[in-house]
Amino acid sequence: MTSHQIYQPSPLAVGVLGFGGLGQAAARVLAPKTDMRWVAAADQAGYAYDPDGLDVSACVETYRQRGSVGYVAPGGHLSQDSIASLIAAAPQVQGYFLALPNLPNTFMASVVRQFIASGWQGVLVDALKRTSAMEQIWALRDELAAAGITYMTGCGATPGLLTAAATIAAQSYAEIHRVKITFGVGIANWEAYRATIREDIAHMPGFDVDTARAMTDAEVEALLDKTNGILSLEKMEHADDFMLELAGICDRDRVEVGGVVDTRNPKKPLSTNVQVTGRTFEGKISTHTFTLGDETSMAANVCGPAFGYLKAGAELHQRGLHGLYTAADVMPRFVR
Ligand code: NAD
Repeated sequence: MTSHQIYQPSPLAVGVLGFGGLGQAAARVLAPKTDMRWVAAADQAGYAYDPDGLDVSACVETYRQRGSVGYVAPGGHLSQDSIASLIAAAPQVQGYFLALPNLPNTFMASVVRQFIASGWQGVLVDALKRTSAMEQIWALRDELAAAGITYMTGCGATPGLLTAAATIAAQSYAEIHRVKITFGVGIANWEAYRATIREDIAHMPGFDVDTARAMTDAEVEALLDKTNGILSLEKMEHADDFMLELAGICDRDRVEVGGVVDTRNPKKPLSTNVQVTGRTFEGKISTHTFTLGDETSMAANVCGPAFGYLKAGAELHQRGLHGLYTAADVMPRFVR
């Protein structure tokens, strides 16, 4: 090796759990990368594993036509307990993005317990949304550390990218008065993101996680017909508050999250932004605003950060730093 050559470690072997809207987008995000190789996927009915890398088109086509990546050949296996089966079949996977629905609200924590019990070591990243769900993961932090797992939580868009941006914006101030996150999401049809939409409905007045989870697809459609496909959400239970409190930025009651989801139009109904208001050391009150480009989709703003944090998590893991981190605790790395 000459002095001009840069050491290129072999690509990180990465899996995606959940192969719905976000899981499939995650696979497409990974396809051109050289830092990471997409080797594993699981859905409710099966898993696919190929240490040389999975083919995105084949997996998406198979999932669309037959309902599970378990039918992919070669590498596919049907399983009633696909996550446990995959962990057992593929100990070489170094990191997973958990693009799973958190329905019921305890589901993600139960998956994390499964990983802890399995003896697998590596990096896990989630894009969890609810405060009460993240508190369950937080309660597992010592067990994660003891198991040799580096767990990055809240690493999607919100929580995630916007929470991290708020952490940086806060640095101009001596005191933080308010963090206000407002998201605009446009998707062409709700069926591409069933869990996301059900979890959003659970924030509407008169609904909770259990009632939204119990709704049939026809009931979701009937609700969306009534609102012309629009979901308007205010003062949501979002873990950005818990993460900013843990990071020492401000008390959770100063954090507010809301947004508008259009389930019938890929154009965003409003520009996603985070506003951070505070007082400077000179006594001036001001607001920083960070706005995402309207052309960026929810999938781009969730999956990009998720893998950036997975890469950061892999570096922490390698240095022996195990346990729980949030998107407000560490900087994401950029995945090439
Ligand atoms: P989806 O409904 O499109 O897909 C869910 C996938 O999970 C499916 O492939 C399904 O087969 C699989 N699955 C369900 N139960 C499983 C099990 N027991 N074992 C293995 N696989 C299982 O979901 P989605 O709309 O892509 O959303 C995924 C998650 O991402 C949701 O929880 C949502 O809240 C979250 N999300 C976070 C953000 C953020 O910014 N933080 C943004 C959007 C979505």
